[in-house]
Amino acid sequence: MQKYIDKQWQLAMQEFSKEITSIGMDLWINPLEPLNIDEDKLILVAPTAMARDTLQRSYISKMLPIIKQFFNISDIDIILSSEREEYIKEYQLLHPDEADNLDAMPKYAPTLQNPFNPRYTFENFVVGTTNQVIYAAARTVAEQPGKRFNPLFIYGGTGLGKTHLLHAIGNYIWEHKTGNINIVYTTCEDFTNDFIESLRKRKEKGMADFRAKYREADVLLIDDIQFIGNKESAQEEFFNTFNTLHQAGKQIIISSDRLPKDIPTLTERLISRFASGFMQDIQPPDFETRLLIIQKKIELEGYSFAPGLDYILSEKLAHCNIREIEGILSKIYFYASMHGVPVATREIMEEVLLTMGEEEKKKASNLAPDKIVDAVCKYFDIPRDDLVGRKRNKEIVEPRQICIYLMWSLLTIPLSAIGQVFNRDHTTIIHARDKILEQVKANAPVKKVVNEITKQIKASLQN
Ligand code: ADP
Ligand code: MG
Repeated sequence: MQKYIDKQWQLAMQEFSKEITSIGMDLWINPLEPLNIDEDKLILVAPTAMARDTLQRSYISKMLPIIKQFFNISDIDIILSSEREEYIKEYQLLHPDEADNLDAMPKYAPTLQNPFNPRYTFENFVVGTTNQVIYAAARTVAEQPGKRFNPLFIYGGTGLGKTHLLHAIGNYIWEHKTGNINIVYTTCEDFTNDFIESLRKRKEKGMADFRAKYREADVLLIDDIQFIGNKESAQEEFFNTFNTLHQAGKQIIISSDRLPKDIPTLTERLISRFASGFMQDIQPPDFETRLLIIQKKIELEGYSFAPGLDYILSEKLAHCNIREIEGILSKIYFYASMHGVPVATREIMEEVLLTMGEEEKKKASNLAPDKIVDAVCKYFDIPRDDLVGRKRNKEIVEPRQICIYLMWSLLTIPLSAIGQVFNRDHTTIIHARDKILEQVKANAPVKKVVNEITKQIKASLQN
């Protein structure tokens, strides 16, 4: 009986949560306990007299029609928690708090609130050439879960939007759901911990809870599957969960920082299961995508940046993932407000980039100035001594300026450090950089050259 009441109550409240604010839900509805059905009344327990009054005044009349869809009752009675024990005795209810009884009930109740991060939506996800395929697949899955691309396997480096996409799918399904669709999001780590925890509990009951949670999902989203341990039993459980859901046509979405075959602890049979669906990577953003992302973040956060700064940042942050880009933008804006300027300026940006964390610097320093000099010399087929020397003929001056521009845009070293490479002061460096920057902005032929050399530099870094 208690199990039935709880279950129906959860379903009813899931519906009711669509009608009232989430604050109202949290404050007044979630603390309620459905205790009993007495003839044609549902008995609820409220924590305080004030809660009961508020409920009677503002909520019960709205709640009743929904409750009636789930319970065969005509009215609701509210008692206080101070009266609860007495009520249980009087009606000789099987005590709901008794351990056995509690254990028999699945501990897991589908959440009543949308559990997904409201910022991680499709609308907030910037689509560019590096992520458009996976974006389209994710949308298809969100619009028609279980119909195509099952499982959907998203992989790619850290900070590139995997978790964002999983939440976007979750948000979308949540917002468009009609019936009771059970959407379960978990990280691989939580899944494993949950499983181990359930083993520790009294055997069958713990396991029943665990299975109720995962195997009754209509949509299962598992983040960071690369953390699947080599604990066989957990992986076995995941395998069985996967099969149960998959055979029932339930949608499964998995993210990973690498391909299944590169996850050392993953068993062959899971590798082949994953391969049976749709697998697609997210690449680091290219220049255009970065620019769009920077513009989107500025808009979403309400930052104010000097004109053109977005463009410059997109050049400079070529080695950053999207999470890092977000961090740097917020740091720049924070600096600006510390200086009391309403708009983040170029000077502030330069200052922030100089104080970037060690981690970021280390990343940037994988690419040494020397590599850029080499790449430019190779591209133009000129000797290194000429490039960094003092010759002033056009064949040398322009490559030198391009080299300076590339150092400025690809590295996070101060202008003075670039100056040292060429044995020149920093005004000369600024002059060279601006000259190329203007041309790149204007889409002059130099832009092609710059892009080509950048590509070669990046390729050389991967070897
Ligand atoms: P991952 O899970 O791949 O490590 P996240 O999904 O956590 O990465 O993304 C890191 C941050 O970057 C998040 O704040 C996310 O909103 C943002 N982000 C990632 N990709 C995009 C995108 N295409 N458009 C907008 N923001 C993005
Ligand atoms: Mg993630």
